[in-house]
Amino acid sequence: MASFVSHLECSFTGERFPSGTIQTVSNSGKPLLVKYDLERISKEYSREDITNSEEAGFWRYSPLLPVELERNRVSLGEVVTPLIELEKTGKMIGANPGMAIIKDESRLPTGSFKARGLGLAVSMAKELGIEHLAIPTNGNAGSALAAYASRGGLTTTVLCPDNTPEINVREARIQGAKTHLVNGLIGECGKIIADGTESIEWFAVSTLREPYRIEGKKTMGLELAEQLKWNLPDVIFYPTGGGTGIIGMWKAFGELVELGWIDCRLPKMVAVQSTGCAPIVRAWDEGKEFAEFWDNAETISSGIRVPSALGDFLILNAIRESGGFAIAVTDEETLEIQNQIGMEDGLLLCPEGAATVAAYRNCINSGMVDADEKAVMFNTATGLKYPMPPVSSRVDKENVDFSTFQS
Ligand SMILES: *Cc1c(COP(=O)(O)O)cnc(C)c1O
Repeated sequence: MASFVSHLECSFTGERFPSGTIQTVSNSGKPLLVKYDLERISKEYSREDITNSEEAGFWRYSPLLPVELERNRVSLGEVVTPLIELEKTGKMIGANPGMAIIKDESRLPTGSFKARGLGLAVSMAKELGIEHLAIPTNGNAGSALAAYASRGGLTTTVLCPDNTPEINVREARIQGAKTHLVNGLIGECGKIIADGTESIEWFAVSTLREPYRIEGKKTMGLELAEQLKWNLPDVIFYPTGGGTGIIGMWKAFGELVELGWIDCRLPKMVAVQSTGCAPIVRAWDEGKEFAEFWDNAETISSGIRVPSALGDFLILNAIRESGGFAIAVTDEETLEIQNQIGMEDGLLLCPEGAATVAAYRNCINSGMVDADEKAVMFNTATGLKYPMPPVSSRVDKENVDFSTFQS
């Protein structure tokens, strides 16, 4: 199957670039978006073809993806991630039955939704003949890149700030990345990679500095539409760092409308950040087009600890066009609701995912979201990668005190 890509386009100026050759950002330094011949797709494919597809996970959306040759698809057994109602927590929050739903991305390879973006980036790198990929990361991107690159036979270098959680550093290394700790912030790791492109000939897959990670993240939106029988929820709460997910989903909805595959109202897109790192929320509140650098970023939700996002204006556009908003929650609120959901609903969310539920609760309380609006919250990774409260209760086998077990 050939791809339906027509060209690449600067997301800021509209300037066009050819597909089929290696591209990074536009001449103005802004992200490039992949454009498709949607008219041709709509002639050759129907949404029923997608529904009847037997491809695994996000590869079922191949007509809307840039990979040209099937042999370049790098796959690790992707799945369609489930929609799970938060029955008890939803009720406690005051949502009507069936309205508070988690899309659980933790089931993807490497335990996070980063698999979508990096699966696509690695497949495209393979197609374009790139042999060595490099990424700055303080979390899940490094391991997803490592796993897909190893699978596809590409070399990977991962640079992590030296305060990156141990588990993320180690999982990248054991899945084949040459992994290094840097005495600096994520942006400084990114600079080393940019500076090295000439002497080392690696290709940087930093967020939004190549065009294809967004196409992978876009599949969250396509998948959600298909799961809801070509409908969409009223509101989406998304933990926003670099913003590829929110930008990608908004792009997906636009393409689905243009294809005529959906005709429902589009969801309000809500960007959720932590009060310890909320550049997008600040820019939104101040009505700005771009966000300013957030000093001394600090939050337990490491996936959204992103002080500066290249696609800031695209995130803000998606929020504005959708009638949504941006909102920050504290780490205390995040931990409290993460605990509650584990105890009551049996789901171990990552802090980023829990933050979206905390934001949802605050919005129900303040009336920004109604109890009868269908809300989908993204749990972007498995909670197993993060610290959990210790267990201290002990039982002495020689001298069991059964009152210990009484609830
Ligand atoms: C990367 C990451 C995010 C932020 O994703 P973006 O789409 O880049 O905004 C959120 N949660 C987790 C767990 C992540 O790893």
